[in-house]
Amino acid sequence: MTAVSNAAEPLDVQPTPLALLLLGREADPRSERGVECPGDLPSPSDPDLVERARAAKARLGDRVFVLGHHYQRDEVIEFADVTGDSFKLAREAAARPDAEYIVFCGVHFMAESADILTSDRQQVVLPDLAAGCSMADMATAEQVAECWDVLTEAGVAERTVPVSYMNSSADIKAFTGRHGGTICTSSNARRALDWAFEQAGEDGKILFLPDQHLGRNTAVRDMGMSLEDCVVYNPHKPNGGLTAEQLRDARMILWRGHCSVHGRFSLDSVNEVRERLPGVNVLVHPECKHEVVAAADHVGSTEYIINTLDAAPAGSKWAIGTELNLVRRLANRYAPEGKEIVFLDRTVCFCSTMNRIDLPHLVWALESLADGKVVNRIQVDPETEKFAKVALERMLALP
Ligand code: SF4
Repeated sequence: MTAVSNAAEPLDVQPTPLALLLLGREADPRSERGVECPGDLPSPSDPDLVERARAAKARLGDRVFVLGHHYQRDEVIEFADVTGDSFKLAREAAARPDAEYIVFCGVHFMAESADILTSDRQQVVLPDLAAGCSMADMATAEQVAECWDVLTEAGVAERTVPVSYMNSSADIKAFTGRHGGTICTSSNARRALDWAFEQAGEDGKILFLPDQHLGRNTAVRDMGMSLEDCVVYNPHKPNGGLTAEQLRDARMILWRGHCSVHGRFSLDSVNEVRERLPGVNVLVHPECKHEVVAAADHVGSTEYIINTLDAAPAGSKWAIGTELNLVRRLANRYAPEGKEIVFLDRTVCFCSTMNRIDLPHLVWALESLADGKVVNRIQVDPETEKFAKVALERMLALP
């Protein structure tokens, strides 16, 4: 197994112990990506792909429900019965108990959440198993168990409540459920932290997994904590790179994970767009770095971004810091209303793993299902599901 590490990389890029694989060509069962696709995929140049997808979906009728994450390509979104962020999609799946098959056009952790929230009768399919999430891969079950041992050793575990972002594997969600914690999304992170601090009691702490930026931005921007209240636990260093005293003094213990898409936006991108487009409103996702969030005019989840642009007046200008497929779709949607919407950065910023789901994979999955063959089923084992569900249900019960 090849360890990938680059000491010269910027602070927010961490070394990963995962093997370097060609996407879709080899298998790494420990990770969310690089998994072989077992089927005979149609050629991407097949001129009948759109017709084939339509025909397969029509053959399946109400037996299939297709979910499309906002960051998916247009060619895939066109076939989605509903679009949304990961949590909305998991709930939509649960609200369709009659759909035998849920085809999740998103990434692996989202399909896991859909499997956890749907009935045992329903089967969740991810059209390409290589569609993982680099952020979710940054916190493995072994690393998080080791971190808990470090907190126990430092005497802080009993005052610490884990809060895990929806963008985490089922294993991490189960860890969270087992240790009295909750899941959060980028829309309800503040509420989840308020609840978790209440549970933690006096001198309580939060272990926030796996996105350090969402944890820090919520604590500092929304809850008025200081940057000094936050420490970063680095799973690649002994004891997370922290002393027992640092752990005891901290209020937020942030896991050293990040989104490789949102982590690319920089303060320079914000300054540059303000110069280029005077009067522009900068609107970013809270997975962006703290300095970017601090310099932005508006910060919020994907749904917040969509709603804000929807309500924006004609003639307004917007620079958006989130995934490019969504920004491009919104720019096209609102251009006729006279709203100018640009991508915050000058460089391309797709989520490469989300983009693994393309029309050939969707056609292959739908045609296989229509022929009675379930492919790429995502199934969480019952023990993991039980505790992950506890954590998800705590989130659903948040005030
Ligand atoms: S956009 Fe970021 S958090 Fe979302 S799936 Fe891609 S890598 Fe993961």
